[in-house]
Amino acid sequence: MKRTPQPAPESTDTNRWQAVINRDASLDGTFVFGVSSTGVFCRPSCPSKRARRENVSFFDHALQAEQAGYRACLRCRPKAVDGNPQSALVRAMCRYIEQHTEDHLTLSHLAKEFRGSPFHLQRTFKSVLGVSPKAYIDAVRLREVKQNLQAGHDVTTALYAAGYGSSSRLYERTATQLGMTPEKYRRGAVAAVVRYTIASSPLGRMLIAATDRGICAIQFANSDQQLQQGLIREFPFAVRRRDDASMSQWRDAISHLIAGQEANPSLPLDIRATAFQRRVWEALQRIPRGETRSYSAIAKKIGAPKATRAVARACATNPVAVAIPCHRIIREDGNLGGYRWGIERKEQLLAIEKGRLS
Ligand SMILES: [Zn+2]
Repeated sequence: MKRTPQPAPESTDTNRWQAVINRDASLDGTFVFGVSSTGVFCRPSCPSKRARRENVSFFDHALQAEQAGYRACLRCRPKAVDGNPQSALVRAMCRYIEQHTEDHLTLSHLAKEFRGSPFHLQRTFKSVLGVSPKAYIDAVRLREVKQNLQAGHDVTTALYAAGYGSSSRLYERTATQLGMTPEKYRRGAVAAVVRYTIASSPLGRMLIAATDRGICAIQFANSDQQLQQGLIREFPFAVRRRDDASMSQWRDAISHLIAGQEANPSLPLDIRATAFQRRVWEALQRIPRGETRSYSAIAKKIGAPKATRAVARACATNPVAVAIPCHRIIREDGNLGGYRWGIERKEQLLAIEKGRLS
């Protein structure tokens, strides 16, 4: 058996250390180094301050560094596939902005999150994308406003879900950016088509509505008229079309979901949400059938332990009953708390899921 000659590990490490000292970007992607005093690993070109040699160890791949207990540096993003830490940082910032449009995003907020100076971030962002972070934030929000208006929502909802709140200053800024008032933009948008069906369920009359992209509403009420009025309130500017035949698949899937005959339901949803609502709703979807959680447990789970009331609000505004199981959230003391579709339905759903009813 032939053996390929390998450099002695000692000399490899010496070369690698030299590359780290020199911040040699040409060796990015060939190895990473971990710093035991911080628990972070970096690519050779990372701009951060150099650690002492005795605290540094080398790994061929990011994965090895992670297995050794290090976490990726937020500044040089050693896990990004292309070797350019600048564009990787900017990509990460863009993703962050897109997921946090409803937060009060400022440059200093971003600087804290990405552990860099505001000046450095601003300059890097501009040099890679050609626009400032603030201009990018505005563009992302505007895109969301447009999508929300095109989906047939009213202006207040569209602005709120895009992180604009309700201040008139922001309203005016949106109007400037759109080149017209949001109302006018909405009227000009091609009205979205929302198909729906109404069927009976163990919880009373049930309405299911969907766009081409997925389910946008699941509601319960005592009468069909109530359900239809609710749909008009939710999608005042959409073309609403009753279509029992084409919706029958969704109807069956949701009936199975209620009865617990579907082990792992993954229904495509097309719903508007702030990033906060989305975080809450995703946490709800991870609660196993038959179990419940408290509002504060969910708040902790999403990393916002003080936001118990905001969690409760997110539950109360869930547009898709059962598919997002907000009924599995109860009060700390075991009291059922509220439910958008009536406390009796919540009680009944929980009883079904705990196997006490079928
Ligand atoms: Zn780094």
